[in-house]
Amino acid sequence: MTTILVTGGAGYIGSHTTILLIEAGYEVILFDNFSNASKESIKRVEKIVEQNITLIDGNVCSSEDLDTVFTHHSIDAVIHFAGLKAVGESVEKPLKYYENNISGTITLCKSMAKYGCKSIIFSSSATVYGDPHTTPILEDFPLSATNPYGRSKLFVEEILRDTYMADNDWNIILLRYFNPVGAHPSGTIGEDPNDVPNNLMPFIAQTAVGKRAFLSIFGNDYNTKDGTGVRDYIHVMDLAEGHVKALNIIHSLNQVITINLGTGTGYSVLDMVKSFEKASGRTISYKIAPRRTGDIASCFADPHYAKEILNWEAKYDIDAMCEDTWRWQSNNPNGYKAL
Ligand code: NAD
Ligand code: UDP
Repeated sequence: MTTILVTGGAGYIGSHTTILLIEAGYEVILFDNFSNASKESIKRVEKIVEQNITLIDGNVCSSEDLDTVFTHHSIDAVIHFAGLKAVGESVEKPLKYYENNISGTITLCKSMAKYGCKSIIFSSSATVYGDPHTTPILEDFPLSATNPYGRSKLFVEEILRDTYMADNDWNIILLRYFNPVGAHPSGTIGEDPNDVPNNLMPFIAQTAVGKRAFLSIFGNDYNTKDGTGVRDYIHVMDLAEGHVKALNIIHSLNQVITINLGTGTGYSVLDMVKSFEKASGRTISYKIAPRRTGDIASCFADPHYAKEILNWEAKYDIDAMCEDTWRWQSNNPNGYKAL
């Protein structure tokens, strides 16, 4: 059986991907330090897949923790989700982000090389395109970053490219996610932000369920169809499937490739509000607020390379994204925390 190490596997995207990996017949070793996740997510994943999952409570910045993994398990490939992702916090605590996201990846790659495992899928982000000069966005567009979180993704991409240049035995896939939303259709696992959500979809969901009084829409004077920001929202189950498809090709790769994972369609903030109202049957109160610093008008993928190289394309539409988010949010108003 092929064994995959999933770092950050207890988190939002990692937990959903774990389900599809197990359903596809992979053995999964989960590795997480629970800095932004709860063990409850894994318990629920185990219920969905009807089996126990090997879980290691460890930090990717610790070579000792990684030694424990590689000495006890024969790992064929790594999917590296572990990382911190709050843009605002990264501005306040850049060293924490660089240490966790960059040093963590370097420590992980050194351990992988030590134990002869040289296949890695890395969670990058559309944020590395900065403010794109045009849309849809192709993989060869210019790269830039406006905050330490984005720079940590850019730097790790470069570090992984250099790693391959120095040793062509590596197989490396850089997946640039657009805006992950939605939840497993069971409604038992989903996104569980700490504190007040920064991202649109969890904020809308918490407004619908009555935890937030209203949504602030950050700007209605962008050069978009209705003036609000446009993004490429992608269902987390589609994203998860992209990782399974990436694993299908990784061992024959012998190169570094970069792939957009998006739907290719952009929706505005007001589109999302309307779709969520339809899915939930609730009214989402909102107020127009000033633009958020660092936001761009429009960002959506050209997803053709993913189709060509992975035979992958997004299947879930905006209605499914909102319905699945609502099922998760309404069944679990406090996320994984007990009521
Ligand atoms: P998440 O916070 O839910 O999951 C990340 C997981 O990594 C958490 O379970 C956390 O506890 C764990 N972790 C963090 N640092 C660790 C460390 N040093 N050692 C071990 N575990 C550690 O985030 P997510 O939304 O699932 O994102 C997964 C990856 O995808 C991240 O790298 C993120 O930057 C990237 N990404 C996310 C989005 C998004 O909007 N969700 C978009 C683009 C890219
Ligand atoms: N947004 C908003 N109110 C919020 C959160 C987000 O109007 O409370 C807008 C934001 O300005 C952007 C879109 O929703 O146009 C998506 O924002 P998110 O933070 O989810 O993703 P990102 O900006 O990182 O792509």
